[in-house]
Amino acid sequence: MAHKRGKVYLIGAGPGDPGLLTLKGQACLRQADVVVYDYLANPAFLDEAPEAEKIYVGKRKGLHHYPQDKINELLLEHARAGKVVARLKGGDPFVFGRGGEEALELVEAGIDFEVVPGVTSAVAAAAYAGIPMTHREHTTTLGFITGHEDPAKKLSRLDWEKISTSMGTLVFYMGMANLENICEQLVAHGRAAETPVAVVRWATTPRQETLTGTLADIVSKVRSADFKPPALIFVGEVVGLRDALRWFDNRPLFGKRVLVTRTAAQAGAFGNLLLEQGAEALSCPVIEIVPPQSYAELDAALSELAATDVLVLTSANAVEAFFKRLVANGDDVRALHGVCVAVVGPKTAEALQQYGLQPDLMADDYRAEGVIDALRTRGVTGQRVLYPRAELARELIPKALAEAGAEVHAPVAYSSRAPRSDNLRPLLEDGQVDAITFTSSSTVDNFVAMLGEDAAQLVSAIPMFSIGPLTSDTMRKHKLAIAAEADPSTLEGMVAAMLAYYAQR
Ligand code: SAH
Repeated sequence: MAHKRGKVYLIGAGPGDPGLLTLKGQACLRQADVVVYDYLANPAFLDEAPEAEKIYVGKRKGLHHYPQDKINELLLEHARAGKVVARLKGGDPFVFGRGGEEALELVEAGIDFEVVPGVTSAVAAAAYAGIPMTHREHTTTLGFITGHEDPAKKLSRLDWEKISTSMGTLVFYMGMANLENICEQLVAHGRAAETPVAVVRWATTPRQETLTGTLADIVSKVRSADFKPPALIFVGEVVGLRDALRWFDNRPLFGKRVLVTRTAAQAGAFGNLLLEQGAEALSCPVIEIVPPQSYAELDAALSELAATDVLVLTSANAVEAFFKRLVANGDDVRALHGVCVAVVGPKTAEALQQYGLQPDLMADDYRAEGVIDALRTRGVTGQRVLYPRAELARELIPKALAEAGAEVHAPVAYSSRAPRSDNLRPLLEDGQVDAITFTSSSTVDNFVAMLGEDAAQLVSAIPMFSIGPLTSDTMRKHKLAIAAEADPSTLEGMVAAMLAYYAQR
C-alpha cells in the first residue's frame, strides 16, 4: 500500500466573524487530520474538524510561547507522517501573517501545500466600520503597512517620506503600540494634521469598537478611552464616510451580551437571531434534558398507539423524547398512522417536521390553553389522547381534556433539571451580562435555584426578558423584574420585545 502523502493547507480564517471563512477554507478544514491554529482565528472554526487533533500555536505580544521555527517544524512533522494539516491563520495567510515563511519551509522540505486566501482584517474592518478604502472623489490609492516596529531600532525601516504622501488611504496593521510615532511621522512628512483617522478593534465581532479623530488628536483619544489592540489604523479622507455608511455597529442590539438560558441544543437558533441584531449570545444553559426515571409509563402508551386518537406535543423536547423512544422500541413514524397530532406552536411543529410529519392541529396562541381550545373545537369526547410530557409539567392539559370527555394518558417522557454550572455566578458578578432571557418557566426556576438566595439581588440591575405570560408569572414569583414580554411567544417575538425595549432607552 502506498504511503498516504501529507499535505498542508495554509488557510486564511478571516478576521473573526465565522461567516467570513471561505467555502474552500471550510472544505479544507473538514478533511484535516490536524489543525494548527492561532490566537486571532475564531475558535468556532475548530468545530468544523471535530475529529482532528488541534494544536494551539497562538502568540500574544510579550508572550511568544510558540516560536515560528517550532510552528514550521510542527507542520513538517505532521505532513511527513502523512497527515492533512490545516494551518489556520487570522485574516489572510499572506498579509502580515508569516504565511510566506511557512510556505517557503514547506517548499524546501518538498511537502505538498496550498494557500487558501482569507478576508484580511483591513478589508473586513473597513467594510464593517463603514469606511470604503477607495472612493473616486477622495483617493484612488491604498497602502497596507505594518505599524509594528521595534522601538529600540534607531532607524525606522519604513520610508515615511514616501508612505506619507504617495498614497491616499493608509492602513496600519499591528500599529497600536506605535500609534504616536505613526501620527508624528505622517505629519512630519507632509500629511495634514487634520487628516481623518479611525482605529477599529476586534473588527467583525460583537466586540467591535471604533474611535475616530485626526492625526492630531487620535493619540489622546485612544489613551483616554484605553483603547487596546488588536486594532487597525485607517488614515485618509475616506474615514469621513463612516458617519454616513456605518451599518454594523449601529444595529439595535449591537455589543449587548445577552444571557441565553435555554438548553445547549436549543440555544443556537436563538443565538443566531440575536447575532443578526448585533448582540452576542452568552450561552449558559440552565436546563438539561434527561430521560425519565422510568420508561414504563411511556412504553405502555407507545404500545397502544394503534388505539390512540390524538397525540399532543407541547415542546420540541417532547417531540424529541417521544420519537427517540418510539425508535428505540423498534417502531417508526408509521405507528402514528391515523393519529391526529396536535402541537403548541411553530417551534414544536418544526421539530415534528424533522421527523417527516405535519401537525394536524396547532394552537393559535402557542400556549397549552390554545391546544386545549383547538382540541375542544375538534371534539375529543370518548377519544384516547396521549400527552407525553415533562416530569413536573402543568396538569392543565390532562385535566381540561379529561373534563371534555377524553381518556387522557400523560406519561412522563423526559425530565429537565438544572445542570451544575460554575460560570453563571461569576459572569453576573463581573458585570459581563447586559440582558437575560427566559424562554420558559423552568428556565426561570432553574436559574434561581442555581444562584441561590441572592438571585434576585444579583440580577436586579440587568434587564430581563420573558417569552410569555407563564414565564412572566414565574419571574414575578421569584421577584425578578420583567423588562419586556414577547408577543407572540416565540423567539422572534422575544427579539422584537428586546428591540422595542432598547429603542425606548
Ligand atoms: N494575517 C492577518 C494579520 C495578522 S497581523 C490578516 O490578514 O488580517 C495581526 C494584526 O492584524 C493585528 O495587530 C491587527 O492590527 C490586525 N487584526 C487582525 N484581526 C483583527 C480584527 N478582528 N480587528 C482589528 N484588527 C485585526
